[in-house]
Amino acid sequence: MLLPITQYGSAVLRKPASRVPAVTPELRRLAVDMLETMYAAKGVGLAAQQVGRLESACVIDVPPECDGEDDRAFNAQVEMPLVMFNPEIVATSGEQEGDEGCLSFPKIGCKVKRPAEVAFRWLDAAGGIRTASARGFLARAVLHETDHLRGVLFIDRADEESKKKAANKLRKLAKANGNTI
Ligand SMILES: [Zn+2]
Repeated sequence: MLLPITQYGSAVLRKPASRVPAVTPELRRLAVDMLETMYAAKGVGLAAQQVGRLESACVIDVPPECDGEDDRAFNAQVEMPLVMFNPEIVATSGEQEGDEGCLSFPKIGCKVKRPAEVAFRWLDAAGGIRTASARGFLARAVLHETDHLRGVLFIDRADEESKKKAANKLRKLAKANGNTI
């Protein structure tokens, strides 16, 4: 089932998600709907708040071609799509800068600095504990979605110049959606 995607300005995007005590059939259904919604919107990641929910849940599907050869080889161990409950960043290293967007910010992109590599753990759809490491664009996606689950948005980390360029669009979008910035 396609879910409506909340846009910048909506209060829910600034609320932290709560850890789920267990992965229930209802949460598995939510994850399936979130994947369907993400694919339909041509995104590579989606977090609970973006569909108006506050359970700690996100989905990611980064196509291998989004990463260069070295990162792609490193990331091959991570099975896509990722359905993650209670995801946590365990460690980060290095730095990368790149363009980032978000399904809650249609037609807005900013430059964002992130760690180059990330180790993370989560509960999978069966409730099992999983761990993995990712680099490059996939690392960026994991960090972007785990930020969402704490109410942090990519524009909070965007470089000043690209944020200034997007300022008008950001203002209009926020105003149209409740103006919680
Ligand atoms: Zn996002």
